[in-house]
Amino acid sequence: MSDDDHFLYALSSNNAWAGYKAHQNPHFFPKLASGQTPQILWLGCSDSRCPETTILGLQPGDVFVHRNIANIISPTDINTSAVIEYAVAHLKVKHVVLCGHTSCGGAAAALGDTRVGGVLDTWLTPLKAVRYANLEALTAIKDDKARATRIAELNVEAGVKVLMANWTVQEAIKERGLQVHGCLFDIGCGRIKDLGFGTKGSKGLDGQEDVVRGRHAQLVFRGGMRPCLLNDFLWLKGWSGFSIAWWLFGIVHRDVGGCLFARAFGSKKRSTNWFGLAFGGLHCLGR
Ligand SMILES: [Zn+2]
Repeated sequence: MSDDDHFLYALSSNNAWAGYKAHQNPHFFPKLASGQTPQILWLGCSDSRCPETTILGLQPGDVFVHRNIANIISPTDINTSAVIEYAVAHLKVKHVVLCGHTSCGGAAAALGDTRVGGVLDTWLTPLKAVRYANLEALTAIKDDKARATRIAELNVEAGVKVLMANWTVQEAIKERGLQVHGCLFDIGCGRIKDLGFGTKGSKGLDGQEDVVRGRHAQLVFRGGMRPCLLNDFLWLKGWSGFSIAWWLFGIVHRDVGGCLFARAFGSKKRSTNWFGLAFGGLHCLGR
């Protein structure tokens, strides 16, 4: 594919995406155009493998974003500061997420002893400072990848400290309980881990399987089996009214896959309902 083709492909892909989204939900774009009320400010790395909205499984309108090389939070960077100010003081986001990532080129460069060139060395200076502040611990890590991951974590820790010292952030924490999180995205497995820095040491997100609801769509992980199984339990108990209500609730929330399969077998005979329950449960487990 030539360079030109890549751009044409991207435009064509956008066209297909816009058509799909509008077909899926005719109100999607008109609603987006009416304004934004994102709940999350994401501060991340510019790396092409870390597109925040995609890796969070969210939608346009859900995340306000600032990304730079190696997700460096510098108090004197007016670009980062302006984004934080607008997101926190004006959009009133509820969460500020600073997220580093594994295999970060900026982290590798800061660990190296050669000049990258141009303005890049200046930009990476705060990360170099993190390296020298933790030189012994980092040198003790023999594996290059593990060392780069560790400095990425230390960089997030340093960035969260800068965030917590920001006046706008401090006031929002005090006045309305703004939460600040320090995270690391593992490119090798696609998972985001909460490192526990910030307003409260929170539990990691590893293995999280809860239903995640966005304003425009929802992703159903394994937790999606719960509403389905509850539906079938209600049905089997003979409480069909509750079951049908729960099923309609599932349709509204687009969590119907397993339930539809189960209902396809649903009848007045209990034996076929048990079959439907087993089928629906297995279907949900497989997602
Ligand atoms: Zn990076």
